[in-house]
Amino acid sequence: MRETTIKVDRKRCEILCVGTELLLGDILNTNAQYLAQGLSKLGLDLYVQTVVGDNEARLENAIHLAMTRADILLFTGGLGPTTDDITKEVAARCFHRELYMDEDALREIQDFYALTRRAMPVSNQKQALMPRGGLLLKNPQGTAPGCMMTSDEGHLAFLMPGPPREMRPMFDNEVAPILARYSNGGLYSKAVRVVSLGESRMAEMLQDLIDAGTNPTLAPYAKDGEAMVRVTARASSKEEAKAILDPVINEVLQRLGRHAYGVDVPNLESVISEKLQQQGLTLSFAEAGTGGLAAQRFLSCELAQSVCGPGLSAMTTGQLACALGLMDALPENTAEACALLSQHACKHFGTTAGLCTLVSGQELACAVTVLGETRQYAARMPARGADYYRTQASQAALDMLRLMLMDREA
Ligand code: ATP
Ligand code: MG
Repeated sequence: MRETTIKVDRKRCEILCVGTELLLGDILNTNAQYLAQGLSKLGLDLYVQTVVGDNEARLENAIHLAMTRADILLFTGGLGPTTDDITKEVAARCFHRELYMDEDALREIQDFYALTRRAMPVSNQKQALMPRGGLLLKNPQGTAPGCMMTSDEGHLAFLMPGPPREMRPMFDNEVAPILARYSNGGLYSKAVRVVSLGESRMAEMLQDLIDAGTNPTLAPYAKDGEAMVRVTARASSKEEAKAILDPVINEVLQRLGRHAYGVDVPNLESVISEKLQQQGLTLSFAEAGTGGLAAQRFLSCELAQSVCGPGLSAMTTGQLACALGLMDALPENTAEACALLSQHACKHFGTTAGLCTLVSGQELACAVTVLGETRQYAARMPARGADYYRTQASQAALDMLRLMLMDREA
């Protein structure tokens, strides 16, 4: 089969994942994620993703709707041999394309069975049906070949199998090279990570940049006690993207000041680990009511082994003090008690820095000691789940430590 010339000068895409399992929540739609990332890398616009069950009428409706708002339709799922695999039949009908038995495709499926020394079930013949004027997309990982077809109005459809290990190579090797022709540059992003500043306050500080943004665009997000602003440029090369992104990133960093803790960094703890290492410091932990969350956060951090010392985690502040060998009564004031515990952690574990978090009910406190200097903080939180207080306590402690380390750099 030869490739047809396609006349599509627009480039709006829609992903349509077909499968009742997806609707029931039995499986996660990782195909949509993979394709969305692929389209973004190619610089193609994606405005809508659709999930639809294995039902002819609903699939037909979904396709007709997609054809009103997109030019390129990417399907996954429903290319198998069974009667509930209907994507190709329904898509061909919507695109007014007749299906015929493609000898090349049939041979490939027969060869696949020959290779695995199994007899080919008759139902598999259906997988060799191809839309007239379409293009076969090879599937070396399985039996169902994919296909591409065009509509008279200039739509382009790519039909790919559901199993991710078949869909991914088909997209990378067969589909992406075709789509690259419709791309007008790739998308390049950088993320500025922000702490101790809510998403809305951050957005206010950047509002004019967000409003003005066409290239690059700025998108604020909130995530686990932090905020983030993603700056995205459309460009034809990395160098061009850098030239577009750098001035805006610098402006963002300047406005957010010390609230911005890094650009394209994995997390707060990795930034802290680097600073601890640069300053030749080691950190120990004393935590009550957090399940050792602050220490846990360093687990996935590469540098942690060289900068983190031991730690103690207890259910209550009293237990923690006892385990650290502090027999005297703790100060009434929670912040002061926390400060004393962070100092004691340094002594007890022989580290140059100590971090303490205390969570009890809705009250939290944190304190950090670095080479004898201590800062502390305590607050009563609004009613939220226990997870929230733990996250807030570890986040506040880590940010306090980051700021102390920054002050030492200055
Ligand atoms: P098969 O020949 O295996 O029937 P198919 O193209 O008909 O392939 P489906 O029947 O829709 O695809 O899905 C087969 C399997 O692929 C599913 O059971 C699921 O494990 C996986 N799968 C399908 N769609 C997705 C998706 N969107 N994201 C992740 N996995 C998926
Ligand atoms: Mg199937």
